[in-house]
Amino acid sequence: MNRQGILTVVSGFSGAGKGTLMKALLEKYDYGLSISATTRTPRTGEEDGREYFFLTREHFESMIEQGELIEWAEYVGNYYGTPKKYVEDQLAAGKDVILEIEVQGALHVRELFPDALLLFITPPSAEELKNRLVNRGTESMDKIEERLSRAFEEADCMQQYDYIVVNDELDACVEQLNEIIINEHSRTLRNNSYIEKMSNELKAFKKGDL
Ligand code: 5GP
Repeated sequence: MNRQGILTVVSGFSGAGKGTLMKALLEKYDYGLSISATTRTPRTGEEDGREYFFLTREHFESMIEQGELIEWAEYVGNYYGTPKKYVEDQLAAGKDVILEIEVQGALHVRELFPDALLLFITPPSAEELKNRLVNRGTESMDKIEERLSRAFEEADCMQQYDYIVVNDELDACVEQLNEIIINEHSRTLRNNSYIEKMSNELKAFKKGDL
């Protein structure tokens, strides 16, 4: 069957464990993860071209002007955006692509790609979210508060996602994400050309006037 790649958008509160989850998902399954561009400074252990393309504001703004980004958003004082080329190439090759982006960008992607699958990752509770952010130890208390306050705003958009995935246990969550995407391939709407082909083939077996 001619398989069309699905564009999956994964969002979730900062500290929900999206990064760890994406890493574990990609180690086990064959998805194309888009690498975003950002103007924020790298955290310890992050590498340019692996977690993000770390750019100056000037470089980022020139990418916006040149139309090289599918979407972009400002998040807690920095730009984040999805480079167009990788996503378009992978989808054209029939590969499933994942974007890990915040809610404004996600809703923008839905406008541009109405077939996109939107998944929202959340920890079991707000208390757990705060603990994870504090224990991660990568941000100052000020930044953590900013991120928690942004999470409150983001909660309003959860309704617009196709699935809410609670990230309680990593392995179980990886399996759940993979199953959702696999099942998405079976949706009737995504199989119109197969339906047409099957119907044409069956014509040959129809009795009577053809
Ligand atoms: P962080 O600084 O924690 O790596 O990311 C902050 C937020 O930016 C996260 O919610 C992440 O999903 C989002 N983000 C990362 N890349 C992109 C992107 O290309 N576009 C948008 N709109 N958001 C992004």
